[in-house]
Amino acid sequence: MLLDISKAFKFLGQEFEFSGIQTLDSQNIYGETIKVEPVNIVGCFLSTDKEILLHGNLKTILHGECARCLKDVNLSMNINFSEVFVKESDVIDKDNEDYFYYQGHKIDLEEMVRVLIISSIPMKFVCNNSFCDTNLFENSNNKPKKENPFNVLHELFKNDEEV
Ligand SMILES: [Zn+2]
Repeated sequence: MLLDISKAFKFLGQEFEFSGIQTLDSQNIYGETIKVEPVNIVGCFLSTDKEILLHGNLKTILHGECARCLKDVNLSMNINFSEVFVKESDVIDKDNEDYFYYQGHKIDLEEMVRVLIISSIPMKFVCNNSFCDTNLFENSNNKPKKENPFNVLHELFKNDEEV
């Protein structure tokens, strides 16, 4: 979605409302393919001369597979954002991730929407089946394993024997 920001340059510091829809390709996240429904965006933009400030809200629904039972999972996203856009030709440090870029009098919102959605996606998609919900972490190698109470007892007895 291309946002025309030309009026913000004529009236510095004044907020302008906008709304629209951004479509995104399926995203591959942590090895899983996640489908993104068209993203509804509403917000305001203003120019401070050097930068464009954009804030608002985006809503969409993600479709993925439950990491446990492979059932389809829908996840609604409702994300508030407040971002800074800098003119691409003014940027020296392109690795700075604190802001996005614009060229001319238009902002391409695709990159911002993608970053906002990806950073809000949970590590694992799980369905609301209580089995999937509660047992997820015990089977994941990335999460600390729950301590087995019998191992703890065993350690206690071992210590007693040594004393
Ligand atoms: Zn499940």
